[in-house]
Amino acid sequence: MKIGAHVSASGGLARALQRGTDLGAEVIQVFLSSPRAWAFRNYEPGEAEEFRSVLSSSGLEMVAHASYLINLASPDESIRKKSDDLLCATMASARLLGISAVILHTGSHRGEGLDRYRTQLVNSLTKAASVGGSTTRLLLENTAGSGGTIGARFEELADLIDSVGAGANLGVCLDTQHMFAAGYYFGDPDSVQAVVAELRSTVGAPVAVHLNDSKVPLGKGTDRHENIDEGEIGSKALGMLLTDQLFEESSVILEVPGAGDGPRKEDVLQAFSLLR
Ligand SMILES: [Zn+2]
Ligand SMILES: [Zn+2]
Repeated sequence: MKIGAHVSASGGLARALQRGTDLGAEVIQVFLSSPRAWAFRNYEPGEAEEFRSVLSSSGLEMVAHASYLINLASPDESIRKKSDDLLCATMASARLLGISAVILHTGSHRGEGLDRYRTQLVNSLTKAASVGGSTTRLLLENTAGSGGTIGARFEELADLIDSVGAGANLGVCLDTQHMFAAGYYFGDPDSVQAVVAELRSTVGAPVAVHLNDSKVPLGKGTDRHENIDEGEIGSKALGMLLTDQLFEESSVILEVPGAGDGPRKEDVLQAFSLLR
């Protein structure tokens, strides 16, 4: 297991790496472009190659979170097309930069039901996964469940991954706040066993984990992260779940608010003491 945090990439990716090192992280997550804009700055091959060597000598793993605007299942065709393009651009840059995975919120059918846009969604995921090649994996993140979002249930993610096919470089990022908000309880040993069994029989071992406590109660359906032990889940439940063998190879990334500016060194230390 690697443990780390989401960090700002302002000032460039080398600065992000430095922030990760300062936090004591083993893995960091960044946005490659503004998560709330369609514009994407492509990296030149020379620039990317230079960064790749900086990344590899840092000893850190870097993953990227795709833009929040991406919605591969939007009822609006122009949004689907822009989403497709932005995801592929993100995958291509991530691959050039030596980034191991791109984490995606699969999208929302806005209440129209998944079936209607399922084929396009599977095609888009297939294409994006192939752009990442064998080195940059596309990870589908479970959602909190509100607003017709896709992937609140593990079996829904498993079904999409199976539809893309076993040869594709796809996996799952499990967000602990989202799963709790979607109604998965893991507050005692029996329920941890049940949730782990359900993961094993659907998506398997998560490649990445977003480690977050929850501002909202179990099953509330909304995406609201909280610092570990300051929310409704608590460190005991998070520790019980994530020390299961299933997560042995996972990259665990804090996305907590900290003091308002994202994960702090003390948050990373807390995660280490909880999980190691
Ligand atoms: Zn997340
Ligand atoms: Zn979230």
